[in-house]
Amino acid sequence: MFTPLPDKPDHPALELEMLEVWEREQTFERLRERNHGGPTWSFVDGPVTANRPALGVHTAWGRTLKDVFQRYKALRGFDQRYQNGFDCQGLWIEVGVERSLGLNSKREIEEYGLEEFARRCREVVVGSSEALTRGSIRLGQWMDWGRDYFTFSDTNIEYIWKFLKIVQERGWLYLGHRSTEWCPRCGTSLSQHELTQAGVYQDRADPSLFVRFPLLDRPGESVVVWTTTPWTLPANVAAAVHPAEEYGRRENGEWVATSLFPDDRFVERKRGSELVGWRYRGPFDDLPPGSQVDHRVIPWEDVTMDQGTGIVHIAPGAGGEDFELSKVHDLPVLTPVDESGRFYDDYGWLHGVSTTEAADQIIGRLGETGFLVEAGLYTHAYPHCWRCDTPLIFRLSDDWFISVEAIRPKLLEENDRVQWVPAYMGKRMDDWLRNMGDWNISRRRYYGLPLPFYPCGCGHLNVIGSRGELAERAIEGLDQLEELRRPWIDRVPIRCESCGEAVTRIPEVGDVWLDAGIVPFATLGWENPERIPEGYGTGAARGLTKADLPDHAYWEKWFPADWVSEMREQIRLWFYSQFFMSCVLVGRSPYARVLGYEKMLDETGREMHASWGNTIAAEDAFAQMGADVMRWQFCSQPPDRNLLFGFGPAHEIKRRLLTFWNSVKFLTDYGNIEGFAPGWEQLEPTDVDLRPLDRWLVERTKQLVADSTAAYEATLTVDVVRAFDAFVDDVSNWYIRRSRRRFYSFDEAAFRTLWYALVQSLQVVAPLMPFLTDHLWRNLVQGGPASVHLAGWPDLAEPDTALLEEIAEVRRVVELGRQARSASRLKLRQPLRRLVTEGAPLAASHADEIADELRVKEVVFGEVEASELRVKPNLPVLGPKLGAKLGAIREQLARGEFEELDGGRFQVDGHVLEPDEVLVERVGRDGWAVASDAGVTVALETALDDELMLEAKLLDRVHEVNVLRRETGLAITDRIKLWLPDADLIERYRERLMSETLAVSVELGDLRIERA
Ligand SMILES: [Zn+2]
Ligand SMILES: [Zn+2]
Repeated sequence: MFTPLPDKPDHPALELEMLEVWEREQTFERLRERNHGGPTWSFVDGPVTANRPALGVHTAWGRTLKDVFQRYKALRGFDQRYQNGFDCQGLWIEVGVERSLGLNSKREIEEYGLEEFARRCREVVVGSSEALTRGSIRLGQWMDWGRDYFTFSDTNIEYIWKFLKIVQERGWLYLGHRSTEWCPRCGTSLSQHELTQAGVYQDRADPSLFVRFPLLDRPGESVVVWTTTPWTLPANVAAAVHPAEEYGRRENGEWVATSLFPDDRFVERKRGSELVGWRYRGPFDDLPPGSQVDHRVIPWEDVTMDQGTGIVHIAPGAGGEDFELSKVHDLPVLTPVDESGRFYDDYGWLHGVSTTEAADQIIGRLGETGFLVEAGLYTHAYPHCWRCDTPLIFRLSDDWFISVEAIRPKLLEENDRVQWVPAYMGKRMDDWLRNMGDWNISRRRYYGLPLPFYPCGCGHLNVIGSRGELAERAIEGLDQLEELRRPWIDRVPIRCESCGEAVTRIPEVGDVWLDAGIVPFATLGWENPERIPEGYGTGAARGLTKADLPDHAYWEKWFPADWVSEMREQIRLWFYSQFFMSCVLVGRSPYARVLGYEKMLDETGREMHASWGNTIAAEDAFAQMGADVMRWQFCSQPPDRNLLFGFGPAHEIKRRLLTFWNSVKFLTDYGNIEGFAPGWEQLEPTDVDLRPLDRWLVERTKQLVADSTAAYEATLTVDVVRAFDAFVDDVSNWYIRRSRRRFYSFDEAAFRTLWYALVQSLQVVAPLMPFLTDHLWRNLVQGGPASVHLAGWPDLAEPDTALLEEIAEVRRVVELGRQARSASRLKLRQPLRRLVTEGAPLAASHADEIADELRVKEVVFGEVEASELRVKPNLPVLGPKLGAKLGAIREQLARGEFEELDGGRFQVDGHVLEPDEVLVERVGRDGWAVASDAGVTVALETALDDELMLEAKLLDRVHEVNVLRRETGLAITDRIKLWLPDADLIERYRERLMSETLAVSVELGDLRIERA
């Protein structure tokens, strides 16, 4: 007996039940045990940041994809690693803790105390990692929970130290002095790749200022610049022009590029090169810094002529390119603001004012001094701190960099070997690798990787490569070293290896992408001589994980990863940092294949924001749609497009899954009535006499397996979903529909075939919907594998494509027949005389089925003459080609004055129109309904006669009686006595009435039924 199924699945309830079953039966452990020693497939998990209080639906998307492919490979017998990772350091964590403690600046953090601050940060990681684990388990993700890696472990930190020491030995590590993107709130510089994260560029309205700089040697004349950052004007030292562009002087003496002001009148014109060297009075020469500068016009090839005035204000202390120019032209560098973005005291009345507050005062002042030409507002995409959302500024800063020039060719070469899905993401990576600058790895913060740099007054830079080396060279402080972390690490001075003097560590911590980038080495035991049990649970990770630190042989076995997957923005982040570190350490890519995917938006296509109220908590989604439905939604998404996630699409998915559920329920309901008890040992129905339709479903099932296998191998879940949806439609709307009656008695071939098809389809989608499939599997399969996840992957012969194409064509004809019927507004139960179809020769041997499905008396395969051809011009294409002649051609087409040529072309008035230049429509002539698609045309004769109308009446009555049976509560197999008011029907159709209503008698009378 099968367990009877309810009318629809309760996804959340059955999922919670399956979680208990898996736990009780140790299903995952048994799966790993089964695959142990098999061929390996190496997956490395990108760490999720452990700063959120719960799993979000965005994260659930990525986790689903990871789980799907791990499950698929497990079904195929691959031995795998299932180590989950948590990212635990950096601004992500710090900013959250600052907010919860009400701290507003770095000074307040230091007053609070770095020990306590570190402990609060760790608490956040502990709480968040527990919540993320709970959410991921609820999602159905199978991982080795409890053996996770935490990037703040001392082990991870030591591996990064080792990397940095190697970088220094190669001469690639240096302290740079440059103008860089800076967050005034966080008080630190940011690196180029951090600006690529989602949400960094936001639209913002800034002041738009046109400012004139009076020329010292040309009285009454000035050069005019445009800027959107007023606070940088006090740091102005030069004005740049394009040497080859033309500049003109307006009557009022203002010089601008002529091409930007085509309507202006110019009284004098010069090339930019002729302006070079002109000296001007700076806008804030009344303040001490500006007064010492010799302001002049300089040439710059990169001045663009798309906005502004064609003359660019240059402030090397407040702009990246400006700083580079200062080196070329030996310009002075003014640094106007401090770490927190406030003006230094030598800026007089601006002292202590922030860059944003300064704007109004500066504009007012420029107005008073006559420098201001015009002030307005300008909306543009402006970079913000990815963590605290503060608008970024440029600021001069000393940062530690890794030079990328020497390794760049290797990076490009290795990236060419990586298989990227979708392919354009590989191109993005290539672009990034070609154009990225040196890697800024230092941050002026607290809770992060301590950079092991100890510069000495003697000129030597000491870099510590391991904890052991630190211990050897430490002068004091080892006994208090709780973790390799601030503040403890800062209390351990070492001896300079060059001069023997005591030196201290620089205060900076590392870029968080170093933490995640080292993972393919730190978690796999690269160059580690001996496995250390629970060796990853060190430092802050102590007590949080039982993960071992494996030995080098293990690394050899699992490196590089066969596959990694994250969202697109990780190209410049995690995909990049591990790639870079891996090319440095071992000269090769850490992964062979990547699946990237685009962004998640809400179901209407908007970004999700808590303040807009359109975010969805994973908890709510689990409770309302269920994890399988979420997973199905994630997996339906082509990776090259944004996912529009929400309850609306979930509803639609549930509706589609219900069709599948109903097919299973159909089998179990009738199977129980007829005592159907299939044996697992004979899954494929090769031992029974199959009818043609059964043989087709067997082949169709093989096709599903073949299509899904190909889709999984291409890492495209959307193609698995498409294959499954089409299969479910074929099972439900063709096989069951055409075989229904065979299930009303015990037709073994029908039961066995349907069971086979459903069981195999469960296996194929088990990785996508692990809960529902296992729930149904345990009901349908007795005496076989206890779980669909232990059933392996179906190993089936190639499908018979000739047979499949034949039935696909039959289904196309039937589908077009339905469309034609619906267009003609004839009710479905009305029988029709004739159907003519053209372009579907393979369907010819199925005329009876087509006639039956569409209720027509006769099916003719031949030319459809019952249609009229309408041809219209495809205006966007044909308009440009024909020009003025279009009107005449259009009228001739409308009058039918054209000739149909081969290959979908048409001739009109001497012009040959190509298929893409016309829109072709076939419509039924009077008395016919026509539908046409992809070369197949179906025409239905719509004329009715007495005979057809009487039969329609019969079918209406049968329908009424069957409704009545249900309303009366009769079982589907109960026999009845029937009374009808229609003498004509009883006379003409007595036998059919009885067989189609299961009546033992039919009498004349008011419509009623009785149990026989
Ligand atoms: Zn910030
Ligand atoms: Zn020294």
